[in-house]
Amino acid sequence: MNQPSVPHRVVIVGAGFGGLEVAHRLAGAPVRIIIVDQHNHHLFQPLLYQAATASLAVSEIAWPVRHLLQRHRNVSTVLAMVTGVDTANRKVLYADGGELDYDSLVVATGARHAYFGHDEWEPYAPGLKTLADAVTIRSRMLFALEMAERETDPERRAAWLNFVIVGGGPTGVELAGTIVELAHENLRKDFHALDTRSARVILIEAGPRILPGFSAELARYAHTALERLGVEIELGRPVSACSAAGVVFGERRLATKVILWAAGVQASPAADWLQAPADQAGRVTVEPDLTVPGHPEIFVIGDAAIIHAWHGQPVPGIASAAKQQGRHVAASIRKRLRGELAPRPFRYQHTGSLATIGKRAAIIDFGWIKLRGRFAWWMWGLVHIYFLIGVRNRLAVALSWLWIYTTGDRSARLITHTDKDQSE
Ligand SMILES: Cc1cc2nc3c(=O)[nH]c(=O)nc-3n(C[C@H](O)[C@H](O)[C@H](O)COP(=O)(O)OP(=O)(O)OC[C@H]3O[C@@H](n4cnc5c(N)ncnc54)[C@H](O)[C@@H]3O)c2cc1C
Repeated sequence: MNQPSVPHRVVIVGAGFGGLEVAHRLAGAPVRIIIVDQHNHHLFQPLLYQAATASLAVSEIAWPVRHLLQRHRNVSTVLAMVTGVDTANRKVLYADGGELDYDSLVVATGARHAYFGHDEWEPYAPGLKTLADAVTIRSRMLFALEMAERETDPERRAAWLNFVIVGGGPTGVELAGTIVELAHENLRKDFHALDTRSARVILIEAGPRILPGFSAELARYAHTALERLGVEIELGRPVSACSAAGVVFGERRLATKVILWAAGVQASPAADWLQAPADQAGRVTVEPDLTVPGHPEIFVIGDAAIIHAWHGQPVPGIASAAKQQGRHVAASIRKRLRGELAPRPFRYQHTGSLATIGKRAAIIDFGWIKLRGRFAWWMWGLVHIYFLIGVRNRLAVALSWLWIYTTGDRSARLITHTDKDQSE
Protein backbone atom coordinates (compact mmCIF):
# COMPACT_ATOMS: atom_id res chain seq x y z
CA MET A 1 0.00 0.00 0.00
CA ASN A 2 1.64 3.28 -1.15
CA GLN A 3 1.17 6.59 0.63
CA PRO A 4 -2.05 7.84 -1.02
CA SER A 5 -3.26 11.46 -1.08
CA VAL A 6 -6.68 10.42 0.20
CA PRO A 7 -6.57 8.24 3.32
CA HIS A 8 -6.89 4.50 2.90
CA ARG A 9 -10.55 3.53 3.46
CA VAL A 10 -11.17 0.61 5.77
CA VAL A 11 -14.78 -0.52 5.74
CA ILE A 12 -15.87 -2.79 8.59
CA VAL A 13 -19.19 -4.59 8.20
CA GLY A 14 -20.55 -5.58 11.62
CA ALA A 15 -20.16 -3.74 14.93
CA GLY A 16 -20.04 -6.90 17.05
CA PHE A 17 -17.07 -8.08 19.07
CA GLY A 18 -14.77 -8.54 16.07
CA GLY A 19 -15.69 -5.43 14.08
CA LEU A 20 -15.61 -3.10 17.06
CA GLU A 21 -12.16 -4.38 18.04
CA VAL A 22 -10.80 -3.59 14.56
CA ALA A 23 -12.24 -0.05 14.78
CA HIS A 24 -10.75 0.56 18.24
CA ARG A 25 -7.34 -0.85 17.29
CA LEU A 26 -7.14 1.20 14.06
CA ALA A 27 -8.35 4.45 15.61
CA GLY A 28 -5.60 7.02 15.28
CA ALA A 29 -3.96 5.22 12.32
CA PRO A 30 -3.68 7.17 9.02
CA VAL A 31 -6.85 5.55 7.65
CA ARG A 32 -10.48 6.46 7.30
CA ILE A 33 -12.69 3.87 8.99
CA ILE A 34 -16.35 3.36 8.21
CA ILE A 35 -18.19 0.82 10.37
CA VAL A 36 -21.52 -0.39 9.00
CA ASP A 37 -24.14 -2.27 11.00
CA GLN A 38 -27.81 -3.12 10.46
CA HIS A 39 -28.47 -2.10 14.09
CA ASN A 40 -27.42 1.12 15.80
CA HIS A 41 -26.08 -0.80 18.81
CA HIS A 42 -23.34 -3.16 19.84
CA LEU A 43 -24.78 -6.11 21.72
CA PHE A 44 -23.09 -7.94 24.59
CA GLN A 45 -24.42 -11.38 23.61
CA PRO A 46 -23.03 -13.33 26.59
CA LEU A 47 -25.67 -11.63 28.79
CA LEU A 48 -28.50 -11.81 26.27
CA TYR A 49 -30.07 -14.75 28.09
CA GLN A 50 -30.43 -12.49 31.14
CA ALA A 51 -32.45 -9.97 29.11
CA ALA A 52 -34.55 -12.87 27.78
CA THR A 53 -35.28 -14.08 31.32
CA ALA A 54 -36.20 -10.72 32.85
CA SER A 55 -32.97 -10.34 34.86
CA LEU A 56 -31.49 -7.37 32.99
CA ALA A 57 -33.09 -4.62 30.93
CA VAL A 58 -32.09 -4.55 27.26
CA SER A 59 -30.43 -1.15 27.74
CA GLU A 60 -28.02 -2.77 30.20
CA ILE A 61 -26.46 -5.06 27.58
CA ALA A 62 -26.43 -2.94 24.40
CA TRP A 63 -24.95 0.47 23.60
CA PRO A 64 -25.09 2.77 20.55
CA VAL A 65 -22.14 2.15 18.22
CA ARG A 66 -21.79 5.90 17.59
CA HIS A 67 -21.43 6.54 21.28
CA LEU A 68 -18.82 3.79 21.73
CA LEU A 69 -16.69 5.26 18.92
CA GLN A 70 -17.33 8.97 19.49
CA ARG A 71 -13.75 9.65 20.66
CA HIS A 72 -12.19 8.49 17.39
CA ARG A 73 -12.28 11.26 14.79
CA ASN A 74 -11.21 8.94 11.95
CA VAL A 75 -14.15 6.56 12.49
CA SER A 76 -17.63 7.11 11.06
CA THR A 77 -20.69 4.97 11.64
CA VAL A 78 -23.31 3.92 9.10
CA LEU A 79 -26.65 2.32 9.88
CA ALA A 80 -27.37 0.04 6.90
CA MET A 81 -28.12 -3.57 6.05
CA VAL A 82 -25.43 -4.97 3.76
CA THR A 83 -26.65 -7.38 1.09
CA GLY A 84 -23.62 -7.83 -1.11
CA VAL A 85 -20.06 -6.92 -2.05
CA ASP A 86 -18.85 -5.96 -5.52
CA THR A 87 -15.33 -7.34 -5.15
CA ALA A 88 -14.25 -6.29 -8.68
CA ASN A 89 -15.06 -2.61 -8.05
CA ARG A 90 -14.42 -2.74 -4.29
CA LYS A 91 -17.85 -1.63 -3.15
CA VAL A 92 -20.08 -2.72 -0.29
CA LEU A 93 -23.74 -2.83 -1.36
CA TYR A 94 -26.67 -1.85 0.90
CA ALA A 95 -30.21 -3.25 0.84
CA ASP A 96 -31.60 0.24 0.14
CA GLY A 97 -29.49 0.56 -3.04
CA GLY A 98 -26.67 2.59 -1.46
CA GLU A 99 -23.03 1.60 -1.81
CA LEU A 100 -19.70 2.33 -0.16
CA ASP A 101 -16.16 2.21 -1.63
CA TYR A 102 -13.38 0.45 0.26
CA ASP A 103 -9.65 -0.13 -0.01
CA SER A 104 -9.62 -2.76 2.75
CA LEU A 105 -12.76 -4.60 3.83
CA VAL A 106 -13.34 -6.41 7.10
CA VAL A 107 -16.43 -8.62 7.22
CA ALA A 108 -17.49 -9.37 10.82
CA THR A 109 -21.17 -10.14 10.42
CA GLY A 110 -21.38 -13.04 12.88
CA ALA A 111 -23.80 -15.96 12.81
CA ARG A 112 -27.37 -16.89 13.71
CA HIS A 113 -28.98 -20.06 15.00
CA ALA A 114 -29.82 -22.77 12.45
CA TYR A 115 -32.80 -25.09 12.27
CA PHE A 116 -31.05 -27.95 10.42
CA GLY A 117 -33.05 -27.35 7.24
CA HIS A 118 -36.34 -26.72 9.10
CA ASP A 119 -36.69 -22.94 8.98
CA GLU A 120 -40.46 -23.45 9.30
CA TRP A 121 -39.85 -24.19 13.02
CA GLU A 122 -38.54 -20.69 13.71
CA PRO A 123 -41.92 -18.99 14.43
CA TYR A 124 -42.63 -21.63 17.12
CA ALA A 125 -39.10 -21.95 18.48
CA PRO A 126 -37.37 -18.55 18.47
CA GLY A 127 -33.60 -18.48 18.93
CA LEU A 128 -31.57 -15.98 20.91
CA LYS A 129 -29.24 -13.72 18.97
CA THR A 130 -30.57 -10.16 18.94
CA LEU A 131 -32.27 -7.79 21.37
CA ALA A 132 -35.52 -8.39 19.49
CA ASP A 133 -35.12 -12.15 20.08
CA ALA A 134 -34.60 -11.55 23.82
CA VAL A 135 -37.74 -9.40 24.04
CA THR A 136 -39.75 -12.04 22.12
CA ILE A 137 -38.59 -14.83 24.43
CA ARG A 138 -39.24 -12.80 27.58
CA SER A 139 -42.72 -11.89 26.38
CA ARG A 140 -43.56 -15.49 25.43
CA MET A 141 -42.50 -16.87 28.80
CA LEU A 142 -44.37 -14.29 30.82
CA PHE A 143 -47.42 -14.52 28.54
CA ALA A 144 -47.47 -18.32 29.02
CA LEU A 145 -47.64 -17.88 32.80
CA GLU A 146 -50.47 -15.34 32.43
CA MET A 147 -52.42 -17.79 30.22
CA ALA A 148 -51.73 -20.67 32.60
CA GLU A 149 -53.26 -18.71 35.47
CA ARG A 150 -56.44 -18.07 33.47
CA GLU A 151 -56.72 -21.60 32.01
CA THR A 152 -59.14 -24.00 33.72
CA ASP A 153 -58.58 -27.07 31.53
CA PRO A 154 -55.71 -29.06 33.15
CA GLU A 155 -54.25 -30.31 29.86
CA ARG A 156 -54.18 -26.88 28.24
CA ARG A 157 -52.80 -25.37 31.44
CA ALA A 158 -49.98 -27.96 31.46
CA ALA A 159 -49.08 -26.99 27.88
CA TRP A 160 -48.71 -23.33 28.92
CA LEU A 161 -46.49 -24.44 31.81
CA ASN A 162 -44.07 -26.61 29.81
CA PHE A 163 -40.95 -24.59 28.94
CA VAL A 164 -38.81 -26.44 26.42
CA ILE A 165 -35.25 -25.49 25.52
CA VAL A 166 -33.64 -27.23 22.56
CA GLY A 167 -29.84 -27.47 22.69
CA GLY A 168 -27.61 -28.31 25.65
CA GLY A 169 -24.75 -25.89 24.92
CA PRO A 170 -23.93 -22.95 27.22
CA THR A 171 -26.91 -20.85 26.02
CA GLY A 172 -29.41 -23.71 26.57
CA VAL A 173 -27.97 -24.46 30.00
CA GLU A 174 -28.02 -20.81 31.06
CA LEU A 175 -31.59 -20.33 29.83
CA ALA A 176 -32.81 -23.51 31.56
CA GLY A 177 -31.21 -22.63 34.91
CA THR A 178 -32.57 -19.09 34.92
CA ILE A 179 -36.08 -20.00 33.72
CA VAL A 180 -36.51 -22.69 36.36
CA GLU A 181 -35.45 -20.24 39.09
CA LEU A 182 -37.75 -17.58 37.67
CA ALA A 183 -40.77 -19.89 37.69
CA HIS A 184 -40.09 -21.90 40.84
CA GLU A 185 -38.72 -19.10 43.06
CA ASN A 186 -38.96 -15.54 41.80
CA LEU A 187 -42.54 -15.40 40.48
CA ARG A 188 -44.25 -17.54 43.12
CA LYS A 189 -45.62 -14.61 45.11
CA ASP A 190 -46.87 -12.77 42.00
CA PHE A 191 -49.40 -15.46 41.01
CA HIS A 192 -52.22 -16.22 43.44
CA ALA A 193 -54.33 -18.63 41.38
CA LEU A 194 -51.36 -20.52 39.97
CA ASP A 195 -48.57 -22.42 41.64
CA THR A 196 -45.69 -21.46 39.37
CA ARG A 197 -43.68 -24.34 40.86
CA SER A 198 -45.79 -26.64 38.68
CA ALA A 199 -43.99 -25.23 35.63
CA ARG A 200 -41.70 -27.79 33.97
CA VAL A 201 -38.43 -26.79 32.33
CA ILE A 202 -37.24 -29.42 29.85
CA LEU A 203 -33.81 -29.22 28.24
CA ILE A 204 -33.52 -31.38 25.11
CA GLU A 205 -30.09 -32.29 23.75
CA ALA A 206 -29.60 -34.58 20.74
CA GLY A 207 -26.09 -35.61 21.83
CA PRO A 208 -25.09 -37.98 24.64
CA ARG A 209 -24.38 -35.15 27.13
CA ILE A 210 -24.87 -31.45 27.71
CA LEU A 211 -22.03 -28.91 27.28
CA PRO A 212 -19.89 -30.86 24.79
CA GLY A 213 -17.38 -27.96 24.72
CA PHE A 214 -16.55 -28.49 28.41
CA SER A 215 -14.75 -31.37 30.13
CA ALA A 216 -16.90 -34.41 30.96
CA GLU A 217 -16.43 -33.73 34.68
CA LEU A 218 -17.69 -30.11 34.52
CA ALA A 219 -20.57 -31.15 32.23
CA ARG A 220 -21.59 -33.83 34.75
CA TYR A 221 -21.52 -31.27 37.54
CA ALA A 222 -23.70 -28.89 35.48
CA HIS A 223 -26.12 -31.73 34.68
CA THR A 224 -26.58 -32.60 38.36
CA ALA A 225 -26.82 -28.93 39.39
CA LEU A 226 -29.53 -28.27 36.79
CA GLU A 227 -31.51 -31.32 37.88
CA ARG A 228 -31.26 -30.17 41.49
CA LEU A 229 -32.81 -26.86 40.43
CA GLY A 230 -35.68 -28.80 38.83
CA VAL A 231 -34.68 -28.91 35.15
CA GLU A 232 -35.58 -32.15 33.33
CA ILE A 233 -32.80 -33.11 30.90
CA GLU A 234 -33.51 -35.30 27.86
CA LEU A 235 -30.39 -36.61 26.13
CA GLY A 236 -29.84 -38.46 22.85
CA ARG A 237 -33.17 -37.52 21.26
CA PRO A 238 -33.07 -35.07 18.36
CA VAL A 239 -36.07 -32.81 17.87
CA SER A 240 -38.02 -33.79 14.75
CA ALA A 241 -40.89 -31.27 14.82
CA CYS A 242 -41.84 -27.92 16.37
CA SER A 243 -45.32 -26.44 15.98
CA ALA A 244 -47.95 -24.42 17.83
CA ALA A 245 -49.01 -27.70 19.45
CA GLY A 246 -45.59 -28.53 20.85
CA VAL A 247 -42.42 -30.45 20.18
CA VAL A 248 -41.58 -33.98 19.02
CA PHE A 249 -38.24 -35.48 20.09
CA GLY A 250 -37.33 -39.12 19.56
CA GLU A 251 -40.60 -41.00 19.99
CA ARG A 252 -41.99 -38.45 22.42
CA ARG A 253 -44.50 -35.68 21.83
CA LEU A 254 -44.80 -32.87 24.37
CA ALA A 255 -47.52 -30.23 24.35
CA THR A 256 -45.97 -26.81 24.98
CA LYS A 257 -46.47 -23.17 24.14
CA VAL A 258 -42.89 -22.11 24.82
CA ILE A 259 -40.05 -23.65 22.80
CA LEU A 260 -36.71 -21.86 22.83
CA TRP A 261 -34.09 -22.75 20.23
CA ALA A 262 -30.47 -22.87 21.37
CA ALA A 263 -29.04 -25.35 18.84
CA GLY A 264 -27.15 -25.02 15.57
CA VAL A 265 -25.21 -22.17 14.01
CA GLN A 266 -25.50 -20.64 10.56
CA ALA A 267 -23.04 -17.93 9.55
CA SER A 268 -24.21 -14.71 7.89
CA PRO A 269 -24.27 -14.94 4.07
CA ALA A 270 -20.80 -13.34 3.73
CA ALA A 271 -19.51 -16.33 1.74
CA ASP A 272 -22.21 -15.71 -0.92
CA TRP A 273 -21.40 -11.99 -1.10
CA LEU A 274 -17.71 -12.75 -1.60
CA GLN A 275 -18.11 -15.92 -3.70
CA ALA A 276 -15.72 -17.46 -1.18
CA PRO A 277 -15.27 -21.09 -0.05
CA ALA A 278 -17.29 -21.95 3.05
CA ASP A 279 -17.98 -24.85 5.43
CA GLN A 280 -21.38 -26.47 6.02
CA ALA A 281 -22.39 -23.73 8.49
CA GLY A 282 -21.68 -21.09 5.83
CA ARG A 283 -18.50 -19.79 7.51
CA VAL A 284 -15.92 -18.41 5.10
CA THR A 285 -12.80 -20.59 4.92
CA VAL A 286 -10.15 -17.92 5.35
CA GLU A 287 -6.39 -18.00 4.71
CA PRO A 288 -4.02 -18.25 7.71
CA ASP A 289 -3.85 -14.42 7.83
CA LEU A 290 -7.72 -14.20 7.91
CA THR A 291 -7.99 -12.93 4.29
CA VAL A 292 -10.33 -14.36 1.68
CA PRO A 293 -8.56 -16.60 -0.87
CA GLY A 294 -7.60 -14.47 -3.87
CA HIS A 295 -8.53 -11.23 -2.06
CA PRO A 296 -5.74 -10.00 0.23
CA GLU A 297 -7.70 -6.76 0.72
CA ILE A 298 -10.70 -8.58 2.30
CA PHE A 299 -10.66 -10.07 5.80
CA VAL A 300 -13.42 -12.18 7.37
CA ILE A 301 -13.33 -12.63 11.15
CA GLY A 302 -15.30 -13.90 14.14
CA ASP A 303 -18.31 -16.17 13.82
CA ALA A 304 -18.50 -15.53 10.05
CA ALA A 305 -15.14 -17.26 9.47
CA ILE A 306 -13.68 -20.73 9.96
CA ILE A 307 -9.97 -21.18 10.58
CA HIS A 308 -7.98 -24.00 12.18
CA ALA A 309 -5.67 -21.78 14.19
CA TRP A 310 -6.00 -23.36 17.63
CA HIS A 311 -3.23 -25.97 17.53
CA GLY A 312 -4.81 -27.28 14.32
CA GLN A 313 -8.36 -27.20 15.75
CA PRO A 314 -11.10 -24.82 14.57
CA VAL A 315 -11.21 -21.54 16.47
CA PRO A 316 -14.42 -21.53 18.61
CA GLY A 317 -17.27 -19.12 17.94
CA ILE A 318 -16.82 -17.04 21.06
CA ALA A 319 -16.35 -13.37 21.81
CA SER A 320 -12.69 -13.53 22.77
CA ALA A 321 -11.83 -15.32 19.50
CA ALA A 322 -13.59 -12.58 17.48
CA LYS A 323 -11.72 -9.91 19.46
CA GLN A 324 -8.35 -11.60 18.97
CA GLN A 325 -9.01 -11.80 15.24
CA GLY A 326 -10.02 -8.13 15.21
CA ARG A 327 -6.72 -7.23 16.86
CA HIS A 328 -4.82 -9.32 14.34
CA VAL A 329 -6.51 -7.67 11.35
CA ALA A 330 -5.87 -4.16 12.70
CA ALA A 331 -2.18 -5.03 13.16
CA SER A 332 -2.00 -6.49 9.61
CA ILE A 333 -3.54 -3.35 8.08
CA ARG A 334 -1.14 -1.11 10.03
CA LYS A 335 1.77 -3.28 8.81
CA ARG A 336 0.65 -3.05 5.22
CA LEU A 337 0.33 0.72 5.46
CA ARG A 338 3.99 0.78 6.51
CA GLY A 339 4.80 -1.23 3.37
CA GLU A 340 5.44 -4.55 5.15
CA LEU A 341 3.56 -7.03 3.01
CA ALA A 342 4.43 -10.45 4.45
CA PRO A 343 1.18 -11.85 5.90
CA ARG A 344 1.29 -12.99 9.51
CA PRO A 345 -0.68 -16.13 10.36
CA PHE A 346 -3.32 -15.78 13.08
CA ARG A 347 -2.88 -17.90 16.22
CA TYR A 348 -5.73 -18.28 18.69
CA GLN A 349 -5.08 -18.23 22.46
CA HIS A 350 -7.91 -19.83 24.44
CA THR A 351 -8.65 -17.84 27.59
CA GLY A 352 -11.38 -20.10 29.00
CA SER A 353 -14.98 -21.35 28.79
CA LEU A 354 -17.66 -20.26 31.27
CA ALA A 355 -21.33 -21.04 31.88
CA THR A 356 -23.75 -20.29 34.71
CA ILE A 357 -26.30 -22.63 36.25
CA GLY A 358 -28.91 -20.34 37.80
CA LYS A 359 -27.84 -17.58 40.14
CA ARG A 360 -25.77 -19.64 42.52
CA ALA A 361 -23.45 -21.87 40.50
CA ALA A 362 -21.23 -21.78 37.44
CA ILE A 363 -18.55 -23.82 35.73
CA ILE A 364 -15.30 -22.36 34.45
CA ASP A 365 -12.64 -24.13 32.41
CA PHE A 366 -9.46 -22.06 32.13
CA GLY A 367 -7.53 -25.13 30.90
CA TRP A 368 -4.95 -24.91 33.68
CA ILE A 369 -7.68 -24.79 36.34
CA LYS A 370 -11.31 -25.89 36.45
CA LEU A 371 -13.77 -24.23 38.85
CA ARG A 372 -17.36 -25.00 39.74
CA GLY A 373 -20.06 -24.02 42.21
CA ARG A 374 -20.68 -20.75 44.02
CA PHE A 375 -17.11 -19.45 43.84
CA ALA A 376 -17.14 -20.01 40.06
CA TRP A 377 -20.41 -18.05 39.88
CA TRP A 378 -18.81 -15.02 41.55
CA MET A 379 -15.82 -15.38 39.28
CA TRP A 380 -18.13 -15.56 36.23
CA GLY A 381 -19.87 -12.38 37.43
CA LEU A 382 -16.58 -10.50 37.87
CA VAL A 383 -15.32 -11.57 34.43
CA HIS A 384 -18.54 -10.41 32.73
CA ILE A 385 -18.63 -7.11 34.59
CA TYR A 386 -15.01 -6.51 33.58
CA PHE A 387 -15.84 -7.08 29.91
CA LEU A 388 -18.87 -4.78 29.88
CA ILE A 389 -18.17 -1.43 28.25
CA GLY A 390 -18.16 1.67 30.49
CA VAL A 391 -18.21 2.31 34.22
CA ARG A 392 -21.91 3.19 34.25
CA ASN A 393 -22.88 -0.13 32.62
CA ARG A 394 -20.65 -2.10 34.98
CA LEU A 395 -22.25 -0.42 37.99
CA ALA A 396 -25.80 -0.86 36.63
CA VAL A 397 -25.36 -4.59 35.94
CA ALA A 398 -23.53 -5.22 39.24
CA LEU A 399 -26.38 -3.49 41.09
CA SER A 400 -29.08 -5.47 39.21
CA TRP A 401 -27.32 -8.75 40.02
CA LEU A 402 -26.83 -7.84 43.66
CA TRP A 403 -30.54 -6.98 43.85
CA ILE A 404 -31.59 -10.29 42.26
CA TYR A 405 -29.12 -12.23 44.38
CA THR A 406 -30.36 -10.79 47.67
CA THR A 407 -34.09 -10.26 46.97
CA GLY A 408 -34.81 -12.70 44.11
CA ASP A 409 -36.69 -9.90 42.37
CA ARG A 410 -36.16 -9.89 38.59
CA SER A 411 -37.61 -6.55 37.68
CA ALA A 412 -37.49 -6.56 33.85
CA ARG A 413 -40.72 -8.60 33.68
CA LEU A 414 -42.54 -6.72 30.96
CA ILE A 415 -44.61 -8.28 28.20
CA THR A 416 -44.09 -5.84 25.36
CA HIS A 417 -45.78 -7.81 22.61
CA THR A 418 -47.73 -11.00 22.07
CA ASP A 419 -47.21 -13.50 19.28
CA LYS A 420 -49.93 -15.07 17.22
CA ASP A 421 -47.71 -18.14 16.64
CA GLN A 422 -47.76 -18.81 20.37
CA SER A 423 -51.45 -18.22 21.01
CA GLU A 424 -52.73 -20.34 18.09
C1 LIG B 1 -26.98 -16.08 23.41
C2 LIG B 1 -25.50 -16.07 23.20
C3 LIG B 1 -24.65 -16.22 24.28
C4 LIG B 1 -23.27 -16.20 24.11
N1 LIG B 1 -22.47 -16.33 25.20
C5 LIG B 1 -21.13 -16.22 25.06
C6 LIG B 1 -20.28 -16.26 26.20
O1 LIG B 1 -20.74 -16.42 27.33
N2 LIG B 1 -18.94 -16.10 26.00
C7 LIG B 1 -18.41 -15.91 24.75
O2 LIG B 1 -17.19 -15.73 24.63
N3 LIG B 1 -19.19 -15.90 23.66
C8 LIG B 1 -20.53 -16.04 23.78
N4 LIG B 1 -21.34 -16.01 22.67
C9 LIG B 1 -20.72 -15.96 21.33
C10 LIG B 1 -20.27 -14.56 20.99
O3 LIG B 1 -21.26 -13.62 21.30
C11 LIG B 1 -19.91 -14.53 19.51
O4 LIG B 1 -18.91 -15.49 19.27
C12 LIG B 1 -19.41 -13.16 19.11
O5 LIG B 1 -20.45 -12.21 19.26
C13 LIG B 1 -18.92 -13.17 17.67
O6 LIG B 1 -18.50 -11.89 17.34
P1 LIG B 1 -18.63 -11.38 15.83
O7 LIG B 1 -17.99 -10.02 15.80
O8 LIG B 1 -18.14 -12.40 14.89
O9 LIG B 1 -20.19 -11.27 15.56
P2 LIG B 1 -21.32 -10.52 16.38
O10 LIG B 1 -20.85 -10.08 17.71
O11 LIG B 1 -22.50 -11.41 16.30
O12 LIG B 1 -21.58 -9.21 15.52
C14 LIG B 1 -22.05 -9.25 14.21
C15 LIG B 1 -22.56 -7.86 13.87
O13 LIG B 1 -22.80 -7.83 12.47
C16 LIG B 1 -24.02 -7.17 12.23
N5 LIG B 1 -24.55 -7.66 10.96
C17 LIG B 1 -24.85 -8.94 10.66
N6 LIG B 1 -25.30 -9.02 9.39
C18 LIG B 1 -25.27 -7.77 8.88
C19 LIG B 1 -25.64 -7.20 7.64
N7 LIG B 1 -26.09 -7.95 6.64
N8 LIG B 1 -25.50 -5.87 7.46
C20 LIG B 1 -25.03 -5.08 8.48
N9 LIG B 1 -24.68 -5.57 9.69
C21 LIG B 1 -24.80 -6.89 9.89
C22 LIG B 1 -24.89 -7.54 13.42
O14 LIG B 1 -25.94 -6.63 13.60
C23 LIG B 1 -23.88 -7.54 14.55
O15 LIG B 1 -23.80 -6.26 15.16
C24 LIG B 1 -22.73 -16.04 22.81
C25 LIG B 1 -23.58 -15.89 21.72
C26 LIG B 1 -24.95 -15.89 21.90
C27 LIG B 1 -25.87 -15.72 20.72
